Amino acid sequence: MNQQEPQYFVLIVPGCLLLLGLAFLLGRWILRDQRFLSWVAAGYIIPSLALSAQSLMTNAQLADWSVVIATFYLFGSWAVAQGMAVRNGSHAHPCIALLIAAITLALLFYFSHIDDRLWFRIVILNAGIALVQLLAVRSLFARPTPEDLSERVLNISYSVSIAYTLARPLVVYSFVPAVDMDNLTRSNLWLLMLATSVLLCLWFALVVFAITVRDILLKVSDERYRDSLTLLLNRRGFFESAKIFMSQPGDQRYFLLVCDIDHFKHINDNWGHLEGDQVLQVVSRTLLTNVRGGDLVARFGGEEFVMLMKGNNMTDASSLAERIRYQLEQTTFSHSAEKVTGSFGLVEVNSLQDLPAAIGRADALLYQAKNAGRNQICVTA
Ligand code: GH3
Ligand code: MG
Ligand code: MG
Repeated sequence: MNQQEPQYFVLIVPGCLLLLGLAFLLGRWILRDQRFLSWVAAGYIIPSLALSAQSLMTNAQLADWSVVIATFYLFGSWAVAQGMAVRNGSHAHPCIALLIAAITLALLFYFSHIDDRLWFRIVILNAGIALVQLLAVRSLFARPTPEDLSERVLNISYSVSIAYTLARPLVVYSFVPAVDMDNLTRSNLWLLMLATSVLLCLWFALVVFAITVRDILLKVSDERYRDSLTLLLNRRGFFESAKIFMSQPGDQRYFLLVCDIDHFKHINDNWGHLEGDQVLQVVSRTLLTNVRGGDLVARFGGEEFVMLMKGNNMTDASSLAERIRYQLEQTTFSHSAEKVTGSFGLVEVNSLQDLPAAIGRADALLYQAKNAGRNQICVTA
């Protein structure tokens, strides 16, 4: 076979990358809130175009087009870095990326148009790409080490791809004597490096897909267990969480406080339903800020809330309930001078099995509080 003929089968590699990029785009189109997928898609599609062109070029053509091709690679690397950073609620410093790209492209221009040196270009481009990739690393490791295995695998895979970018020029350098530099892009070494790159890209894509599916499942399960208005646990979430909360070892005592907003129908009728919703959110925040970290706060429906708390004794639990009652009463709303108050029932829960009955007992006390004039707490005698 004539060595100078373009080897079209090398297009398999960029073809795979292009397809993966399109799959990410499709994922982003379906999952509107997974913004990072657009960046990862760009990080696969744009370099795949450069790689297609590059794979078919002679060294002379490579020198002519090196700056354009490098621009595609640098942008692609930055897009993946940006995707990783966006996923972690950050960004991959576009200004620093531009600076790195400008220096890399200027050096590439010099070593292609003024002093044509393929080896220098390989080192410079890989160094530029690695530096751009590094821009996401801070956002990955800014968070405490993720306990989730897939999250750790994603971070490690990204780090490995940076290490590989840095190692690539060294590999070429070690084999340079054995390779005809003029035909580098047609050499077995080049194909081996392409194969390694594509394997790493495939692996990374697989991890990103797996993590996206995991995120969706977590979100769905979170939606099953949370109330969408207040983001508190719903009834199902409360009972599921209580199983874990009450099964911890130790002589822990548990207290259950139920709360129902007084005359909420009146608030809705006079302030409007939207303002009513805001009252529910404010009440939720008041409840949340008064309990300890692990305690459970749930909205059981309408304007009824349930809290399950660890505590030392009934006196402490009553003081906490009184603090919540008082804070609610003191909260001012812009819509009206009227006060929002709540009625409460407080009981001790003897065990997890006792929980449903305890809710019944607390409800009965709550109605006592309503009948006694509202805005008060009734406690088991
Ligand atoms: P009481 O003091 O006896 O508890 O009287 P109340 O008006 O608070 O109780 P009632 O059960 O008569 O009315 C509850 C109201 O809560 C009726 C319903 O429209 C309203 N509500 C239930 N869920 C929501 C919600 O998600 N948003 C808003 N804005 N209102 C809600
Ligand atoms: Mg009510
Ligand atoms: Mg009610």
